[in-house]
Amino acid sequence: MKKIRVKSGANRYAALRQEAFEANRQLPKLGLVLFTFGNVSAADAKAGVFAIKPSGVPYEELTPGKMVVVDFDGKIVEGKLRPSSDTKTHAVLYKHWPGIGGISHTHSTYATAWSQTLKDIPIYGTTHADHATVDIPCTTPMSDALIEGDYEYQTGFQIIDGLNERKLSHKEVEMILVGHHAPFTWGATSAKAVYNSAVLEEIARMAFLTESINPDARRLKEALIKKHFERKHGPDSYYGQ
Ligand SMILES: [Zn+2]
Repeated sequence: MKKIRVKSGANRYAALRQEAFEANRQLPKLGLVLFTFGNVSAADAKAGVFAIKPSGVPYEELTPGKMVVVDFDGKIVEGKLRPSSDTKTHAVLYKHWPGIGGISHTHSTYATAWSQTLKDIPIYGTTHADHATVDIPCTTPMSDALIEGDYEYQTGFQIIDGLNERKLSHKEVEMILVGHHAPFTWGATSAKAVYNSAVLEEIARMAFLTESINPDARRLKEALIKKHFERKHGPDSYYGQ
């Protein structure tokens, strides 16, 4: 009988690819993507790699084996297909934000509409406050020089700068609108990043409706923002409905 030789390391990141596969499959299920728009990645911070959706493959044709594993410079480590065109954006964020385990990018309708207006999403209610106690930031559009250069790589810095300009930490707010583009969200795991994409879409929809009903709607009052911040982060935090 012929011995089957198992190549060592050939499928080293099977678990990571499985995780990324499952997270990507959530996007169409949650109604957050059309066709091949959007992508989720799952990182192994210790190994310095992440698994991401291949480029141009429809969600229903995805398999764990089709996921591509790349390092934090975007170089392919494992996989036969071309990684998502947004891979460099993910790589920049993993490299600069140690500790995050997942990133999700969608063109979900309401969050993308806000991105296109270049407006932050005002914090109008407690649904928003339970997930972020600040307005959801929208970055300034990228300069022509940067667009001409390494566009996807620069998008990563557009996100990092967007938070820095507002003195926000990526731990404090796990979602951003990229001006004239669409949202990116992240979290401790890829599942949390996808959850944040869905939450952001809902917050964006509610804010749109709030302004439609009352163009003079006011931001949530400070006392309520503080209350929601404390019940999530304070010493007596009890949030988790
Ligand atoms: Zn995009």
